[in-house]
Amino acid sequence: MSEIVGIDLGTTNSLIGVMDAGFPILIANQEGSRLTPSVVYLPESGDPVVGAPADRMRALFPERTIYSVKRLMGRRPGESEKEDFPFAVKSQSGQMLLELGQRSFKPEEISSLVLKKLKADAELSLGNPIERAVITVPAYFNDLQRQATKRAGELAGFAVERMINEPTAAALAYGLNRLDDHSRIAVYDLGGGTFDISILELNEGVFRVLSTNGNTRLGGDDIDRELVRLLRERIIARHPELRQELDDKLFIARIREIGHAAKLRLSTEETVQVDIPFLSGDRSFPYHLTRQELEAIARPIVRRTRSHCLRSLDDAKLDPAKLDEVILVGGVTRMPIVRQFVAEIFQRLPNNTQNPDEAVAVGATIQAGMLSGQIQNVLLLDVTPLSLGIETFGGLMNVLIPRNSTIPCKAGELFTNAVANQSVVQIVVLQGERELAKDNWELGRFDLEFEPVSKGFARIGVQFEIDADGILHVLARDTRTGRQRLIELSSAVDVSDEAVEKMIAESLDHAFEDMADRLWTEAVLKSNELLPAVRSALTLVGDQIELDDRRKIHRLVNEVEVALKSREHHRLKKANAELDEGTQHLATLLIDRAMAEAARRKK
Ligand code: AMP
Repeated sequence: MSEIVGIDLGTTNSLIGVMDAGFPILIANQEGSRLTPSVVYLPESGDPVVGAPADRMRALFPERTIYSVKRLMGRRPGESEKEDFPFAVKSQSGQMLLELGQRSFKPEEISSLVLKKLKADAELSLGNPIERAVITVPAYFNDLQRQATKRAGELAGFAVERMINEPTAAALAYGLNRLDDHSRIAVYDLGGGTFDISILELNEGVFRVLSTNGNTRLGGDDIDRELVRLLRERIIARHPELRQELDDKLFIARIREIGHAAKLRLSTEETVQVDIPFLSGDRSFPYHLTRQELEAIARPIVRRTRSHCLRSLDDAKLDPAKLDEVILVGGVTRMPIVRQFVAEIFQRLPNNTQNPDEAVAVGATIQAGMLSGQIQNVLLLDVTPLSLGIETFGGLMNVLIPRNSTIPCKAGELFTNAVANQSVVQIVVLQGERELAKDNWELGRFDLEFEPVSKGFARIGVQFEIDADGILHVLARDTRTGRQRLIELSSAVDVSDEAVEKMIAESLDHAFEDMADRLWTEAVLKSNELLPAVRSALTLVGDQIELDDRRKIHRLVNEVEVALKSREHHRLKKANAELDEGTQHLATLLIDRAMAEAARRKK
């Protein structure tokens, strides 16, 4: 059996490792480093340049040097992304593309170039070809982002054996030497572009993820952007005449590079001298940047991780005091302010025995070792980070697999038709935590045809299955005819960035409004069912009740109609209940009438 490598495909850096005599080892690239910058320089002519040599091109050719492409994987470009990058990002038929001159690339094509370099360098080092890989993804990646990562691996020539969540991988790296332990650990992973928090239980070789949370748009890149803004402001304050010059992309790229180097040093030094050369002339801008200044801009960014940590603890039903360790992963966790912040939230000093840049790759390699049989007695039980469901009547989200369900898993439900003689249903597959379908990510939609029947008579089974890679397979079946469709969700997707942002950052903020919307929609559905039924009953059996009773029912109907216009959920709910209650005897009369008619027909 050929070897399986473990790969951490990072926003900023990527790493590759392999099992060697039962131990996970990371392989140095041709430049002699275990970290390969996830940067690709695409010259006007000639082959792409990948890694450290590409990173050096960033300040010289910002428009042709792609970095942080992981932020764009499985995404459509939004306005903020366009502002963020010095290279061109455009949206075409729901897809997002990077534009370089006449050519355009999908984000996964760029990622595949990074993977190709890792593969080639590792093959050179090991002296044999490598075809199989385990690749890590942020736990909070949605289905589309996972699919895009898998495609990147395949484009690079790998059979992607498994995709594993980054914090889970880090926990494997931490726990491999402690397989006999019984402990609960939190993995706080703040990288260049994403933040993940996972809580795991380690019990005699079984790693069970209890909960996971995070944000795919939060990381060190945000600090870099704010730092560029701060340095720009400082230069303008001293040289207002340079304002226009400071908008130049090349210049911004230079400030970014210098600011980034200063940021790294400020994790260990209190103050650093930055010298920014100007575009024209021989002047430069000397500036003393302090850790305090950096922390002032980093603090609001780091604070954004708080709600995710609390939610994760809550989902795991754990008090911070019950945790045994907090492991730090991702380069940003080298910043003292991040360590202090983590210590405050989890009420303990974080464990820093793991190299924050390498733990994920080591974990991916361990998973590769588990798949190839080189590591035994370890079992990994991961969870799905976001709920999955379909849209139902009234535009509501109907959850089939709730978030934090252990994967692989399967769930199904029977649905019916809302309209008589309907012959097709549209299945809209959603991912997210919001009550209304429109606020969740739409992963895909497809039609299922079935035999026309009366309202409520169709039986459509929908089954969701999440495989060990966290990828979703959807099956829909008309149980009467057995007609079914199994769908791939990778195409025809149009996720708006607005929705992405809403989903991750605001699902908590919107919890109350969402619930109110859901309750309102449910009440409206109820009215829509009740009103026509009562009107039809009045036509059929209205003459069998007292005039006063008829008047009362008309009053109740009127109140429902008025409440429908009010948008007050309590009022509508109450009006529905009163109408329901006040027309119970009509139902009895209707049944009597139906029975009498049946008896007449028999005769
Ligand atoms: P990762 O995605 O895990 O490779 O993390 C990379 C991010 O960590 C980038 O935003 C880096 O700028 C940041 N980073 C790496 N080392 C340090 C450091 N010593 N201090 C502060 N940030 C760092």
